[in-house]
Amino acid sequence: RRAEFAAMRDLPSVTTDGQRVALMVNAGLREDAQALDVVGADGIGLFRTEFQFLVSATLPQREKQQRLYKDVLDAAGDRPVIFRTVDIGGDKALPYMQREDDEQEDNPAMGWRALRLALERDGLMKVQARALLEAAAGKVLHVMFPMISEPWEFDAARALVEHQRAWLATHKKKLPVAVRYGAMLEVPALAEVLDILLPKLDFLSIGTNDLTQFLFAADRAHPKLAERYDWLSIAILRFINRVVLACDAHNVPVGVCGEMGGRTLEAMALIGLGIRRLSITPASVGPVKAMIRSIDAAALQQDLRQWLADGATDIRARLTSWAKLREIEIN
Ligand code: PEP
Ligand code: MG
Repeated sequence: RRAEFAAMRDLPSVTTDGQRVALMVNAGLREDAQALDVVGADGIGLFRTEFQFLVSATLPQREKQQRLYKDVLDAAGDRPVIFRTVDIGGDKALPYMQREDDEQEDNPAMGWRALRLALERDGLMKVQARALLEAAAGKVLHVMFPMISEPWEFDAARALVEHQRAWLATHKKKLPVAVRYGAMLEVPALAEVLDILLPKLDFLSIGTNDLTQFLFAADRAHPKLAERYDWLSIAILRFINRVVLACDAHNVPVGVCGEMGGRTLEAMALIGLGIRRLSITPASVGPVKAMIRSIDAAALQQDLRQWLADGATDIRARLTSWAKLREIEIN
């Protein structure tokens, strides 16, 4: 079906009932930006900035960070790039970053990682914020913070970036024309405080890799658990459904940037829940776009919401038959 996907490259990802779904890609390296044109994506929905830190022998200097961000923005042209601030710590340990005794950990996934670490490691976030702001001079900068667990963490991270923006302004440096701030929803507790968080945000992105790990208390990298909990389980779908309803009520755009969105049937379920932005691996763009162009989103939404209300525990099977009946390719 490769030729079929290639032919669709420049066709819009719109459902049969006219719903536009933004298809973006996950990226982390300079070369990844080229995938945008190859697959015809709408932008980079998750740029994992920690990749540069992981492949470097020493902490990347500001100039080096800035050059990467600028190259990626240039390659993307008019398409948006959502930069996620460093998500290091946990399983993504940096050998050149020394840890004190009280910073050793038995449960790194739930440990001192991402924003928790970046807000405390003096200089890390500041340097990155400067690099991002300067790289996006004259453009719109999208910045997103990982592993937010409480709204104040978003406030602190945003304030840090804003502080750098003010510093650059007083030094007469060229600034981004606008900065849009987003949070990742990966920690379930955040879903209980969306009424507090959402008014602060320009956008929200659901990270289904960590979210699933924390919802089911199941290590995302454990081979024994890899197939155990289904992304199409009613627990996850009900959870995401509630988040989408809250975002709609607050007029905050919400997307999904975890691996779930790159699987065709899962992506179909997400669209049925009202998600209108997916950030996925480039290889998934073709199959997911083909699916989007053949579904009636309103009809799907009606059926899916009914199944959730009824307490259906076989949603994968139901979605599979739903697709088969309508001759929608799901692999
Ligand atoms: C996620 O957790 O779903 C996510 C997109 O981030 P990462 O996979 O980098 O943790
Ligand atoms: Mg994550």
